[in-house]
Amino acid sequence: MSSPASKAELEPFAPPALGEPYLLTPGPLTTALSVKEAMLRDWGSWDGDFRAMTASLRSQLLAIAGDTDGAFDCVPIQGSGTFAVEAMLASFLPRDGKALVLANGAYGQRAAQTLKYLGRDHVVINKGDYMPPRGDEVAAALDADPAITHVLVIHCETSSGILNPVEEISRAVYAKGRKLLIDSMSAFGALPLDVNEIRYEAMVSSANKCIEGVPGFGFVIARKNELEAAEGRSHSISLDVHAQWAYMNKTGQWRFTPPTHVVAAFLEALRLHAQEGGVAGRGRRYTNNRDVMVAGMRELGFETLLKDRWLSPIIVTFFNPAHPNFDFSRFYELMKEKGFIIYPGKLTVVESFRVGCIGRMDAHVMRRVVQAAGESLREMDVDTAAPPEAAIAERARLAA
Ligand SMILES: *Cc1c(COP(=O)(O)O)cnc(C)c1O
Repeated sequence: MSSPASKAELEPFAPPALGEPYLLTPGPLTTALSVKEAMLRDWGSWDGDFRAMTASLRSQLLAIAGDTDGAFDCVPIQGSGTFAVEAMLASFLPRDGKALVLANGAYGQRAAQTLKYLGRDHVVINKGDYMPPRGDEVAAALDADPAITHVLVIHCETSSGILNPVEEISRAVYAKGRKLLIDSMSAFGALPLDVNEIRYEAMVSSANKCIEGVPGFGFVIARKNELEAAEGRSHSISLDVHAQWAYMNKTGQWRFTPPTHVVAAFLEALRLHAQEGGVAGRGRRYTNNRDVMVAGMRELGFETLLKDRWLSPIIVTFFNPAHPNFDFSRFYELMKEKGFIIYPGKLTVVESFRVGCIGRMDAHVMRRVVQAAGESLREMDVDTAAPPEAAIAERARLAA
């Protein structure tokens, strides 16, 4: 007889416990059994044991960011990722500053909307659903508007899965003497964002994306001098990054009730992350997941929205098939019956759906995803998954 734990060790990417479906979604995502098991006890938030857990979480995240000389610090913030984005914007953009938001999807739009709520001056370069913002256009926008102090870029725009060229954008921003803030929510931990290689002032991510923890907090990684300068800027007591940082450094505690179980699960997720070879190892598995899944889906006739160059190893958007028998909600249910939760698309021009590559899954699982997609098409009497002409025309526009 094998206990669930020993089975998990033999088969690290075995189906999630209790017949749950795999979540092919970009967070919440499928987590390891040991991550879930780490939540089976209670911690006192003020107790030394939990304070040590918080300290360990912060230092491990700084190590993942490559902070070797102590120029940065890590500040966890309760809530979902959006709370951390809002906290970052309110704390690092001075009240009389002005932001340039590089938007190419829902998360860029949300950042602009956040600045509106905050009453912070901002302009947006809107690239539509999925065109990447490029360094030269950022440079031109900064030349044209000397009032801009900060630029915000989304690392992987999860609404299409596009991987934005953050390194190129960082170079353009600092060449013009401005500062960069990064929403690396769905990329940090799997794609390199080393502070020694890409210059920025602050970035945010959250527990339930590429580190493969469960939802409950986000975290800001920022330069200490920027953290110091952030004092008194935030509009919000709960989202004040400086206040959280100062209190945490003084007491080792979070200012308000921390998600204790989520932190415990996250430490186990960090252990698995290190065991897999850190950012490089995790990025390799996700890339392999994507390559196996995309190749199989293309064989079925599906086509990706993006050219290979912009495909992230995080999530991939496919056009809905043109076939008259194809119905997304039916497809969704058929996939779910086979154990896979996929994700509806978020594009405005053409119908699409998304398949995530992140979470506790490997290439064997991705092959089964493709097999399930093929069977689901057959059950719907769809003999080819080829997209409509309009979708191809839209993609050609992207290439132009
Ligand atoms: C997930 C995500 C967020 C945060 O979303 P929440 O639903 O608040 O966790 C922000 N930006 C990006 C790019 C994301 O992928």
